[in-house]
Amino acid sequence: MFRAILLTKNDDGSTRAELTQLDDAQLPPEGDVTVAIDYSTINYKDGLAITGKSPVVRKWPMVPGIDGAGTVLASSHPDWKAGDAVILNGWGVGETHMGCLAERAKLKGDWLIPMPHGMSSRTAMAIGTAGYTAMLCAMALAEHGVKPEDGEVLVTGASGGVGSVAVAILAARGYKVVASTGKLAEADYLKSLGAAEVIDRAGLSAPGKPLQKERWAGVVDSVGSHTLANAVAQTRYGGTVAACGLAQGMDFPASVAPFILRAVKLIGVDSVMAAKERRVDAWSNLASEMQAETLERITQEIALGEAMDWAPKILAGGVRGRLVVDVRG
Ligand code: NDP
Repeated sequence: MFRAILLTKNDDGSTRAELTQLDDAQLPPEGDVTVAIDYSTINYKDGLAITGKSPVVRKWPMVPGIDGAGTVLASSHPDWKAGDAVILNGWGVGETHMGCLAERAKLKGDWLIPMPHGMSSRTAMAIGTAGYTAMLCAMALAEHGVKPEDGEVLVTGASGGVGSVAVAILAARGYKVVASTGKLAEADYLKSLGAAEVIDRAGLSAPGKPLQKERWAGVVDSVGSHTLANAVAQTRYGGTVAACGLAQGMDFPASVAPFILRAVKLIGVDSVMAAKERRVDAWSNLASEMQAETLERITQEIALGEAMDWAPKILAGGVRGRLVVDVRG
Protein backbone atom coordinates (compact mmCIF):
# COMPACT_ATOMS: atom_id res chain seq x y z
CA MET A 1 0.00 0.00 0.00
CA PHE A 2 1.12 3.57 -0.58
CA ARG A 3 -0.31 7.02 0.11
CA ALA A 4 -1.89 9.06 -2.68
CA ILE A 5 -4.25 11.94 -3.31
CA LEU A 6 -7.29 10.44 -5.01
CA LEU A 7 -9.87 12.42 -7.01
CA THR A 8 -13.37 11.00 -7.40
CA LYS A 9 -16.64 12.50 -8.61
CA ASN A 10 -19.47 13.32 -6.22
CA ASP A 11 -23.07 12.60 -7.31
CA ASP A 12 -23.53 16.29 -8.20
CA GLY A 13 -20.53 16.15 -10.55
CA SER A 14 -18.20 18.07 -8.21
CA THR A 15 -14.69 16.75 -7.47
CA ARG A 16 -13.81 15.07 -4.19
CA ALA A 17 -10.12 15.04 -3.25
CA GLU A 18 -8.76 13.00 -0.35
CA LEU A 19 -5.53 11.58 0.98
CA THR A 20 -5.91 7.80 0.90
CA GLN A 21 -4.08 4.47 0.56
CA LEU A 22 -3.82 2.68 -2.79
CA ASP A 23 -2.23 -0.59 -3.80
CA ASP A 24 -0.20 -1.45 -6.90
CA ALA A 25 -3.18 -3.19 -8.53
CA GLN A 26 -4.90 0.21 -8.76
CA LEU A 27 -2.07 1.71 -10.81
CA PRO A 28 -2.61 2.03 -14.58
CA PRO A 29 -1.75 -1.23 -16.43
CA GLU A 30 -0.41 0.66 -19.47
CA GLY A 31 2.56 1.99 -17.47
CA ASP A 32 5.83 0.08 -17.97
CA VAL A 33 7.97 1.80 -15.31
CA THR A 34 7.07 1.90 -11.60
CA VAL A 35 8.60 4.91 -9.86
CA ALA A 36 8.95 5.65 -6.15
CA ILE A 37 8.06 9.35 -6.15
CA ASP A 38 10.11 11.48 -3.75
CA TYR A 39 8.72 14.90 -4.64
CA SER A 40 5.90 16.31 -6.72
CA THR A 41 4.54 19.83 -7.07
CA ILE A 42 1.39 21.89 -7.26
CA ASN A 43 1.16 23.70 -10.58
CA TYR A 44 -1.78 25.81 -11.73
CA LYS A 45 -3.13 22.78 -13.63
CA ASP A 46 -2.95 20.62 -10.48
CA GLY A 47 -5.01 23.33 -8.77
CA LEU A 48 -7.63 22.98 -11.53
CA ALA A 49 -7.64 19.17 -11.22
CA ILE A 50 -7.87 19.02 -7.41
CA THR A 51 -10.62 21.64 -7.13
CA GLY A 52 -12.45 20.46 -10.27
CA LYS A 53 -12.70 24.10 -11.35
CA SER A 54 -11.87 23.17 -14.92
CA PRO A 55 -12.33 19.75 -16.56
CA VAL A 56 -8.64 18.82 -16.83
CA VAL A 57 -9.30 15.34 -15.37
CA ARG A 58 -10.59 13.05 -18.13
CA LYS A 59 -10.55 9.65 -16.35
CA TRP A 60 -11.92 8.72 -12.93
CA PRO A 61 -10.80 7.98 -10.32
CA MET A 62 -7.58 9.98 -10.82
CA VAL A 63 -4.41 10.64 -8.90
CA PRO A 64 -3.47 14.26 -9.71
CA GLY A 65 0.11 15.48 -10.08
CA ILE A 66 1.48 16.42 -13.52
CA ASP A 67 5.06 16.40 -12.18
CA GLY A 68 7.12 13.79 -10.35
CA ALA A 69 10.72 13.04 -9.49
CA GLY A 70 12.00 9.85 -7.94
CA THR A 71 13.65 6.49 -8.43
CA VAL A 72 12.70 3.60 -10.69
CA LEU A 73 11.51 0.58 -8.68
CA ALA A 74 10.79 -1.76 -11.59
CA SER A 75 10.85 -1.44 -15.36
CA SER A 76 10.03 -3.45 -18.47
CA HIS A 77 11.10 -0.51 -20.67
CA PRO A 78 14.54 -0.89 -22.29
CA ASP A 79 15.73 2.60 -21.31
CA TRP A 80 15.19 2.24 -17.56
CA LYS A 81 16.23 -0.04 -14.73
CA ALA A 82 15.67 -0.13 -10.98
CA GLY A 83 17.62 2.62 -9.23
CA ASP A 84 17.54 5.17 -12.09
CA ALA A 85 16.66 8.73 -11.03
CA VAL A 86 13.97 10.17 -13.30
CA ILE A 87 11.75 13.20 -13.93
CA LEU A 88 8.22 13.20 -15.33
CA ASN A 89 6.48 16.33 -16.65
CA GLY A 90 3.13 16.34 -18.41
CA TRP A 91 2.08 13.86 -21.13
CA GLY A 92 -1.43 13.90 -19.67
CA VAL A 93 -0.23 12.43 -16.36
CA GLY A 94 -2.59 13.65 -13.61
CA GLU A 95 -5.26 14.21 -16.31
CA THR A 96 -5.79 10.95 -18.24
CA HIS A 97 -3.14 8.77 -16.55
CA MET A 98 -2.71 8.47 -12.77
CA GLY A 99 -0.23 11.06 -11.57
CA CYS A 100 2.52 11.82 -9.11
CA LEU A 101 0.83 13.24 -6.00
CA ALA A 102 1.42 9.76 -4.59
CA GLU A 103 4.28 7.74 -3.18
CA ARG A 104 4.23 5.53 -6.26
CA ALA A 105 3.38 5.98 -9.95
CA LYS A 106 3.30 3.64 -12.93
CA LEU A 107 4.43 5.63 -15.97
CA LYS A 108 5.44 5.07 -19.57
CA GLY A 109 9.19 4.84 -20.03
CA ASP A 110 8.96 6.98 -23.17
CA TRP A 111 7.71 9.89 -21.04
CA LEU A 112 10.60 9.88 -18.56
CA ILE A 113 13.80 11.84 -18.76
CA PRO A 114 16.95 11.17 -16.74
CA MET A 115 17.60 13.37 -13.74
CA PRO A 116 20.34 15.82 -14.77
CA HIS A 117 23.67 14.97 -13.15
CA GLY A 118 23.90 16.32 -9.60
CA MET A 119 20.25 17.47 -9.41
CA SER A 120 18.13 16.20 -6.50
CA SER A 121 14.47 15.17 -6.75
CA ARG A 122 13.56 18.14 -4.59
CA THR A 123 15.36 20.61 -6.84
CA ALA A 124 13.76 19.07 -9.92
CA MET A 125 10.32 19.50 -8.42
CA ALA A 126 11.04 22.98 -7.09
CA ILE A 127 11.54 23.76 -10.78
CA GLY A 128 8.71 21.46 -11.95
CA THR A 129 6.59 21.98 -15.05
CA ALA A 130 6.35 25.71 -14.29
CA GLY A 131 10.12 26.16 -14.30
CA TYR A 132 10.66 23.84 -17.25
CA THR A 133 8.04 25.86 -19.18
CA ALA A 134 9.79 29.10 -18.20
CA MET A 135 12.97 27.63 -19.70
CA LEU A 136 11.12 26.63 -22.90
CA CYS A 137 9.96 30.27 -23.13
CA ALA A 138 13.50 31.62 -22.58
CA MET A 139 14.77 29.20 -25.26
CA ALA A 140 12.03 30.42 -27.65
CA LEU A 141 13.07 34.06 -27.18
CA ALA A 142 16.73 33.24 -27.81
CA GLU A 143 15.94 31.04 -30.84
CA HIS A 144 13.90 33.87 -32.35
CA GLY A 145 16.79 36.27 -32.03
CA VAL A 146 16.00 38.22 -28.84
CA LYS A 147 19.35 39.22 -27.33
CA PRO A 148 20.04 41.00 -24.02
CA GLU A 149 21.29 44.11 -25.86
CA ASP A 150 18.00 44.42 -27.79
CA GLY A 151 16.19 46.01 -24.83
CA GLU A 152 13.74 45.24 -22.05
CA VAL A 153 12.01 41.87 -21.69
CA LEU A 154 8.60 41.66 -20.01
CA VAL A 155 7.52 38.76 -17.77
CA THR A 156 3.83 38.67 -16.84
CA GLY A 157 2.36 36.76 -13.89
CA ALA A 158 5.83 37.37 -12.50
CA SER A 159 5.27 36.29 -8.90
CA GLY A 160 3.78 32.92 -9.98
CA GLY A 161 5.67 29.71 -10.71
CA VAL A 162 6.38 30.21 -14.42
CA GLY A 163 6.93 33.94 -13.87
CA SER A 164 9.37 33.64 -10.96
CA VAL A 165 11.58 31.12 -12.76
CA ALA A 166 11.38 33.13 -16.01
CA VAL A 167 12.51 36.29 -14.20
CA ALA A 168 15.45 34.43 -12.64
CA ILE A 169 16.55 32.68 -15.86
CA LEU A 170 16.28 35.74 -18.10
CA ALA A 171 18.06 38.00 -15.60
CA ALA A 172 20.87 35.43 -15.24
CA ARG A 173 21.15 35.37 -19.05
CA GLY A 174 21.77 39.12 -18.99
CA TYR A 175 18.37 40.46 -20.06
CA LYS A 176 16.90 43.59 -18.48
CA VAL A 177 13.74 42.03 -17.04
CA VAL A 178 10.58 44.00 -16.26
CA ALA A 179 8.29 41.99 -13.98
CA SER A 180 4.52 42.59 -14.17
CA THR A 181 2.64 41.59 -11.03
CA GLY A 182 -0.60 42.08 -9.16
CA LYS A 183 1.34 41.69 -5.92
CA LEU A 184 3.36 44.90 -5.67
CA ALA A 185 4.24 43.90 -2.10
CA GLU A 186 6.44 41.23 -3.75
CA ALA A 187 8.56 43.84 -5.56
CA ASP A 188 11.60 43.13 -3.35
CA TYR A 189 11.19 39.39 -3.96
CA LEU A 190 11.08 39.93 -7.74
CA LYS A 191 14.10 42.22 -7.61
CA SER A 192 15.96 39.60 -5.56
CA LEU A 193 15.35 37.19 -8.48
CA GLY A 194 16.88 39.72 -10.86
CA ALA A 195 14.03 41.96 -12.06
CA ALA A 196 15.33 45.42 -13.02
CA GLU A 197 11.86 46.94 -12.66
CA VAL A 198 8.50 45.84 -11.25
CA ILE A 199 5.27 47.16 -12.77
CA ASP A 200 1.61 46.90 -11.73
CA ARG A 201 -0.22 44.34 -13.86
CA ALA A 202 -3.28 46.63 -13.85
CA GLY A 203 -1.50 48.56 -16.62
CA LEU A 204 -1.71 45.49 -18.86
CA SER A 205 -4.89 43.67 -17.85
CA ALA A 206 -7.58 46.03 -19.25
CA PRO A 207 -8.59 46.30 -22.93
CA GLY A 208 -6.01 48.40 -24.84
CA LYS A 209 -5.30 49.81 -28.31
CA PRO A 210 -4.14 47.42 -31.07
CA LEU A 211 -0.80 49.24 -31.44
CA GLN A 212 0.83 50.92 -28.44
CA LYS A 213 4.16 52.56 -27.69
CA GLU A 214 6.91 50.05 -28.54
CA ARG A 215 8.75 48.87 -25.44
CA TRP A 216 9.53 45.14 -25.25
CA ALA A 217 12.22 43.29 -27.19
CA GLY A 218 10.68 40.07 -25.87
CA VAL A 219 7.87 38.87 -23.62
CA VAL A 220 7.20 35.75 -21.55
CA ASP A 221 3.45 35.69 -20.90
CA SER A 222 1.81 33.25 -18.49
CA VAL A 223 -1.43 35.25 -18.26
CA GLY A 224 -3.18 35.40 -21.69
CA SER A 225 -6.29 37.49 -22.41
CA HIS A 226 -5.92 41.33 -22.46
CA THR A 227 -2.50 41.08 -20.82
CA LEU A 228 -1.15 39.09 -23.77
CA ALA A 229 -2.93 41.38 -26.27
CA ASN A 230 -1.39 44.48 -24.66
CA ALA A 231 2.04 42.87 -24.40
CA VAL A 232 1.94 42.07 -28.14
CA ALA A 233 0.74 45.63 -28.89
CA GLN A 234 3.74 47.03 -26.95
CA THR A 235 6.36 44.74 -28.50
CA ARG A 236 9.05 46.43 -30.56
CA TYR A 237 9.51 45.92 -34.29
CA GLY A 238 10.62 42.31 -34.93
CA GLY A 239 10.31 41.33 -31.25
CA THR A 240 9.09 37.97 -29.94
CA VAL A 241 6.35 37.06 -27.48
CA ALA A 242 6.37 33.57 -25.94
CA ALA A 243 2.82 32.71 -24.78
CA CYS A 244 2.37 29.81 -22.38
CA GLY A 245 -0.45 30.58 -19.95
CA LEU A 246 -4.01 31.63 -19.29
CA ALA A 247 -4.11 32.86 -15.68
CA GLN A 248 -6.23 35.86 -16.72
CA GLY A 249 -8.13 34.01 -19.45
CA MET A 250 -7.94 31.79 -22.50
CA ASP A 251 -9.13 34.55 -24.82
CA PHE A 252 -6.83 36.64 -26.97
CA PRO A 253 -8.67 39.89 -27.71
CA ALA A 254 -6.06 41.34 -30.08
CA SER A 255 -5.64 42.60 -33.66
CA VAL A 256 -3.22 41.49 -36.37
CA ALA A 257 -1.67 44.99 -36.46
CA PRO A 258 1.49 44.13 -34.43
CA PHE A 259 2.14 41.09 -36.66
CA ILE A 260 1.63 42.77 -40.06
CA LEU A 261 2.97 46.25 -39.23
CA ARG A 262 5.76 45.46 -36.74
CA ALA A 263 6.69 41.89 -37.68
CA VAL A 264 6.09 40.82 -34.10
CA LYS A 265 6.38 37.05 -33.59
CA LEU A 266 3.96 35.24 -31.29
CA ILE A 267 5.34 31.84 -30.29
CA GLY A 268 3.17 29.28 -28.55
CA VAL A 269 4.93 27.27 -25.85
CA ASP A 270 3.66 23.87 -24.72
CA SER A 271 5.37 21.71 -22.14
CA VAL A 272 2.93 18.79 -22.03
CA MET A 273 3.60 17.14 -25.40
CA ALA A 274 7.05 18.64 -26.08
CA ALA A 275 9.49 16.20 -27.72
CA LYS A 276 11.91 14.32 -25.48
CA GLU A 277 15.04 15.99 -26.97
CA ARG A 278 13.54 19.42 -26.28
CA ARG A 279 12.85 18.42 -22.66
CA VAL A 280 16.34 17.08 -22.15
CA ASP A 281 17.78 20.35 -23.52
CA ALA A 282 15.54 22.44 -21.26
CA TRP A 283 16.44 20.40 -18.15
CA SER A 284 20.13 20.52 -19.00
CA ASN A 285 19.89 24.32 -19.25
CA LEU A 286 18.02 24.44 -15.94
CA ALA A 287 20.66 22.30 -14.25
CA SER A 288 23.44 24.65 -15.30
CA GLU A 289 21.64 28.01 -15.03
CA MET A 290 19.30 27.79 -12.04
CA GLN A 291 21.18 28.85 -8.92
CA ALA A 292 20.31 26.81 -5.81
CA GLU A 293 20.02 29.93 -3.67
CA THR A 294 17.63 31.61 -6.12
CA LEU A 295 15.51 28.48 -6.36
CA GLU A 296 15.28 28.25 -2.58
CA ARG A 297 13.92 31.83 -2.50
CA ILE A 298 11.23 30.81 -5.00
CA THR A 299 10.19 27.58 -3.26
CA GLN A 300 7.85 26.60 -0.41
CA GLU A 301 7.65 22.98 0.68
CA ILE A 302 4.38 21.34 1.68
CA ALA A 303 3.36 17.81 2.69
CA LEU A 304 1.20 15.54 0.52
CA GLY A 305 -1.86 15.99 2.72
CA GLU A 306 -1.68 19.78 2.33
CA ALA A 307 -2.23 19.65 -1.45
CA MET A 308 -6.00 20.13 -1.07
CA ASP A 309 -5.51 23.34 0.96
CA TRP A 310 -3.12 24.85 -1.57
CA ALA A 311 -5.04 23.99 -4.75
CA PRO A 312 -7.60 26.83 -4.43
CA LYS A 313 -4.86 29.25 -3.34
CA ILE A 314 -2.85 28.76 -6.54
CA LEU A 315 -5.97 29.32 -8.66
CA ALA A 316 -6.63 32.56 -6.75
CA GLY A 317 -3.11 33.76 -7.68
CA GLY A 318 -2.21 33.54 -4.01
CA VAL A 319 0.98 31.50 -4.27
CA ARG A 320 4.35 33.14 -4.56
CA GLY A 321 6.80 31.14 -6.66
CA ARG A 322 6.73 27.38 -6.54
CA LEU A 323 5.14 24.78 -4.28
CA VAL A 324 7.12 21.58 -3.90
CA VAL A 325 5.35 18.58 -2.35
CA ASP A 326 7.22 16.09 -0.17
CA VAL A 327 5.03 13.09 -0.94
CA ARG A 328 6.49 11.14 1.98
CA GLY A 329 5.84 14.05 4.34
P1 NDP B 1 0.73 30.47 -10.79
O1 NDP B 1 -0.64 30.54 -10.21
O2 NDP B 1 1.87 30.11 -9.93
O3 NDP B 1 1.07 31.87 -11.47
C1 NDP B 1 0.13 32.60 -12.22
C2 NDP B 1 0.32 34.07 -11.92
O4 NDP B 1 -0.47 34.82 -12.84
C3 NDP B 1 -0.19 34.49 -10.55
O5 NDP B 1 0.75 34.27 -9.52
C4 NDP B 1 -0.41 35.97 -10.76
O6 NDP B 1 0.85 36.62 -10.72
C5 NDP B 1 -0.91 36.01 -12.21
N1 NDP B 1 -2.38 36.05 -12.27
C6 NDP B 1 -3.25 35.24 -11.63
N2 NDP B 1 -4.52 35.58 -11.91
C7 NDP B 1 -4.44 36.63 -12.76
C8 NDP B 1 -5.41 37.45 -13.39
N3 NDP B 1 -6.72 37.24 -13.22
N4 NDP B 1 -4.99 38.45 -14.18
C9 NDP B 1 -3.66 38.66 -14.37
N5 NDP B 1 -2.69 37.94 -13.78
C10 NDP B 1 -3.08 36.93 -12.98
O7 NDP B 1 0.63 29.46 -12.02
P2 NDP B 1 1.83 28.83 -12.88
O8 NDP B 1 2.95 29.78 -12.91
O9 NDP B 1 2.01 27.42 -12.48
O10 NDP B 1 1.14 28.82 -14.32
C11 NDP B 1 0.89 30.05 -14.98
C12 NDP B 1 0.07 29.81 -16.24
O11 NDP B 1 0.85 29.08 -17.17
C13 NDP B 1 -1.19 29.00 -16.00
O12 NDP B 1 -2.22 29.50 -16.83
C14 NDP B 1 -0.80 27.59 -16.43
O13 NDP B 1 -1.90 26.84 -16.83
C15 NDP B 1 0.13 27.91 -17.58
N6 NDP B 1 1.11 26.87 -17.84
C16 NDP B 1 1.21 26.42 -19.11
C17 NDP B 1 2.13 25.48 -19.46
C18 NDP B 1 2.29 25.08 -20.87
O14 NDP B 1 2.80 23.99 -21.14
N7 NDP B 1 1.90 25.92 -21.81
C19 NDP B 1 2.94 24.81 -18.43
C20 NDP B 1 2.85 25.43 -17.10
C21 NDP B 1 1.91 26.40 -16.84
P3 NDP B 1 1.01 38.14 -10.22
O15 NDP B 1 0.25 38.24 -8.93
O16 NDP B 1 2.49 38.29 -10.07
O17 NDP B 1 0.43 39.02 -11.28
